[in-house]
Amino acid sequence: MGNIALKNAVTGPKQYFEMLKVICSETSKSSSKPSKRTDPRSVSEDQISALYHLFGESQVINALEIIEEQVIIHITVAGSGRTYFQVRRPRTTYVLYSNVPFCTCPSFRFKILKKERKILCKHVIACQMALALRKCQFSTASNYMSTIEMH
Ligand SMILES: [Zn+2]
Repeated sequence: MGNIALKNAVTGPKQYFEMLKVICSETSKSSSKPSKRTDPRSVSEDQISALYHLFGESQVINALEIIEEQVIIHITVAGSGRTYFQVRRPRTTYVLYSNVPFCTCPSFRFKILKKERKILCKHVIACQMALALRKCQFSTASNYMSTIEMH
């Protein structure tokens, strides 16, 4: 993938987020080809290595584990067409935006405080990948706050 060459131009969370979306969009494209696999959408080795390169192996593996746990919900707000994600964990639910690098988890907040460049947490990566792979649940909500559960 030529996208890896762009890494030198990646300077902050927005750029990392855009790169993540580019890599995930490759998933959607390749999955439209006929495949003999039982799961029609899958991540190629090229995509995985690009993700490792950008975010580090452990972060990507953690994201893949979240996808396999099937705890990601993609929510469309009725009427507005706005979308966001929920990641349901045993004690809490994290909320993420679809088009902005943001997550309500402690790790993301910590990265902001430390002004880390690689600001994306595993949930951000997991949600974008799950959406591309169609491995999240799809739901609608009547308004933005109604489905956000605070514990
Ligand atoms: Zn997070």
